[in-house]
Amino acid sequence: MADLPSWIERDAAVVWHGFTQMSTYADNRPVIVERGEGRELIDVDGNRYLDAISSLWLTTLGHAVPELDQALRDQLAKVAHSTLLGNGNTAVIELAEALAPRVPVDGAKFLFASDGAAAVEQALKIAFQFWTNQEITGRNRYLAFGGAYHGDTIGSLSLGDGGFGTDVYDPLRFPVLRTPSLGEPGAVDAAVDAIAAHAHELAAVILEPLVQGASGMTLVPAEAVAAVARAAAEHDVLVIHDEVATGFGRTGTLFATEQCGTRPDILVLGKGITGGYLPLSATVASERVWGAFLGADLSDRTLYHGHSYSGNALAAAVALRHLQLIDEWDVLANVRDRADQLGAGLTEAVAPLAAVATIRRCGLMVGIELAPPAEGLRWGRKVSAACVERGVLIRPLGDVIVAMPPLTTTANEIDRIVTTLAAAITEVTEP
Ligand SMILES: *Cc1c(COP(=O)(O)O)cnc(C)c1O
Repeated sequence: MADLPSWIERDAAVVWHGFTQMSTYADNRPVIVERGEGRELIDVDGNRYLDAISSLWLTTLGHAVPELDQALRDQLAKVAHSTLLGNGNTAVIELAEALAPRVPVDGAKFLFASDGAAAVEQALKIAFQFWTNQEITGRNRYLAFGGAYHGDTIGSLSLGDGGFGTDVYDPLRFPVLRTPSLGEPGAVDAAVDAIAAHAHELAAVILEPLVQGASGMTLVPAEAVAAVARAAAEHDVLVIHDEVATGFGRTGTLFATEQCGTRPDILVLGKGITGGYLPLSATVASERVWGAFLGADLSDRTLYHGHSYSGNALAAAVALRHLQLIDEWDVLANVRDRADQLGAGLTEAVAPLAAVATIRRCGLMVGIELAPPAEGLRWGRKVSAACVERGVLIRPLGDVIVAMPPLTTTANEIDRIVTTLAAAITEVTEP
């Protein structure tokens, strides 16, 4: 009898993986996950990996959390899904009620979707229609920043600053006004000037507060976010905060916006909202924005937008329990303590390595930028592979090594991540 094909072979035969070259996929030793337990993932051969990237920035409390599993089962006994188009669902109402006083948005109204990118698209359409509903025309451009990433649908891709091979889609992108990443010298002045000069054609400014994750954990000063908010308010331009990556505790507060002291008109949530369990995202509009859509029944002021799985009840039930657990377990205090420990450990053991150019960190979001001496050396990939061999799951963004442990990570796990990173970087860069 012929050998049965391996899981990797079966995978490569039928599954198309995003951001992955499929001709070499099987040769790059992908981890095929079968189960999760706490902060570990377990592959089909029983190998355990510490999930140091939170399954690409989603997982907050861990995998197979009994309390979240139970919330899912409880909702399953009621109903899995019912449409939010014109009707409601108790699980969704309870979630929105619980989130409303916690989000940094005045009079928060929640429009749910399933992915971060879809919630960004909703924000774009809401910002545009906010103006047309008030008979203000010509407000159809957006100001976005250098290094921005807002998702991979055409609209969200247009807001993003490219990279990761997405330049191929440039002919499909709509033009946006772009000023430098807010951490760069002179960037605040450039943004404020652009808002003043283009206010009459701007629907909104969109930014990632505190951290531009996908650009390699580029830090965005809180004061810069506040300065943009002031300029936007002065010139009556809407502000959209994309907290898909930073939301739900990653930076040490429930939302990064809290550290900026501002109240955006629209907030975009995703990734950690269900603790990494189920696809759910939300576009949160202020009462003022939402109010511009009120009018006669069936009138053209209505937001004509919706997704089939908008406000999925299973996802909403898990998201509600997740929010409660963040409080019950005092998760944010752990984030702050572990973040301090991680920062100190990296400064001591990783920063001095010759191959490390710089380390950027905000809360439990870390980018370690390597400086390969020659084009094409691709250290990022190799260092990540060396970490995976040591049982710590890491994935790079180019030559930036990203570490983003779950919010419930322990002191021992932080030590292990630091030790593993130092050993892997040394192995690859100082052979
Ligand atoms: C991941 C991400 C998105 C896109 O979310 P998806 O769920 O992957 O579509 C948007 N904005 C930011 C800041 C992100 O990190």
